[in-house]
Amino acid sequence: MEVATTDVPEAYVGMKVCDLWIDGTGWDLGKIAPFISDDLKLELSAVVVDRVTGAGDRLAWNETPDGQFTVTSAYRFLSRDGIYKPDMENFFNRVWRVRAPERVRVFFWLVGNKGIMTNQERFRRHISESEICQVCKGGVESILHVLRDCLAMAGIWKRIVPRGKQQVFFAMSCMEWLFVDLNDNTATENGPWSTLFAIAVWWAWKWRCGNVFGDQTLWRDRVKFVKDYAKEIFLVGEGSVPVETGSRHDRLISWTPPMLGWIKLNSDGASRGNPGLATAGGVLRDGDGKWCGGFALNIGRCTAPLAELWGVYYGLCIAWDKQITRLEVEVDSSVVAGFLRQGIPDTHPLSFLVRLCHGFLSKDWEVRVTHVYREANHLADGLANYAFTLPLGLHTFDFVPPDLLSVLRDDECGVSRSRFIYM
Ligand SMILES: [Zn+2]
Repeated sequence: MEVATTDVPEAYVGMKVCDLWIDGTGWDLGKIAPFISDDLKLELSAVVVDRVTGAGDRLAWNETPDGQFTVTSAYRFLSRDGIYKPDMENFFNRVWRVRAPERVRVFFWLVGNKGIMTNQERFRRHISESEICQVCKGGVESILHVLRDCLAMAGIWKRIVPRGKQQVFFAMSCMEWLFVDLNDNTATENGPWSTLFAIAVWWAWKWRCGNVFGDQTLWRDRVKFVKDYAKEIFLVGEGSVPVETGSRHDRLISWTPPMLGWIKLNSDGASRGNPGLATAGGVLRDGDGKWCGGFALNIGRCTAPLAELWGVYYGLCIAWDKQITRLEVEVDSSVVAGFLRQGIPDTHPLSFLVRLCHGFLSKDWEVRVTHVYREANHLADGLANYAFTLPLGLHTFDFVPPDLLSVLRDDECGVSRSRFIYM
């Protein structure tokens, strides 16, 4: 009511946000537009009502700018801290840093929150008659049993974990076991141990859920499968931006094609003014650098990180629709890569969109998010800029728009651009 440009009719008094929102379409602008300024209309088009992720309305902490609860700010407020859990914070930091597919890290995050369903948990909630493991009948089906101790899985661990380390490995409690092994980056022939470990744990859960432990035809050699998979994941992450320290060097940067069998999504967002008129764009390409689909999105008015996230979100949507099973996502914003890979506090203003993206990341496909330099993200940047010339909304392209053909060709041929890099 405070922002209305004319008097609002009686019928609108007491109306809720959800009355002006149509799922799958967006804002019911016919009802809203007559009463607000054009500027506000642009701002509104960048906002979505989150009815998809199932997350309820959340409270934001008023004492910090990003709405995130911190102990320091709470300490200023109260004399004691009742929420801070140093061990779990450490654990989650570790989870988001391990080199593994995003859905694997999301799984560990769930495990840390005791968010996976076992017979022990079902029994506790009175929705199961027994807490015993139905696969081996050899013990209570706890999280640790499923992931480590159940006969089928223990057999796999014994072939992966070095003999000298096995006693300690099988003696640890659940959280200790996860924390210690996720922290162990000892090199193996299949990449760091933490990666191999994370992937073996994830597959332990996958196999259990699919109840395919007995199916020998599908998984003839699980150990080999897990090892090969870990190695592949390790290799995919090789091209990412290194940690910057020390002196400046001139380096040539070019777009690199995805590994065999993978598709690469480059996405980008642009905001003129931050917040200001904003767009996003993205492109899917195969190992030969060929165009497999792309889009440009004219968002309205919003901040740069929000525009970037919209780019990732639509890129994921389109890739999923195309039934791509292995996707490398490249973004040139380290902030956005961080949100996607390390999560975001619930109270952060961008958390709804990060959640929508996480919804895609946790689906049944391989997705790897990497932060690259701007020079390697030229085509996505071009698409985002192109979107400024298009009407509001999403525009998808089966072929590269003619204006950007030369950029696509350059990338295809591996043309590089120079950049000063701190090394
Ligand atoms: Zn069992």
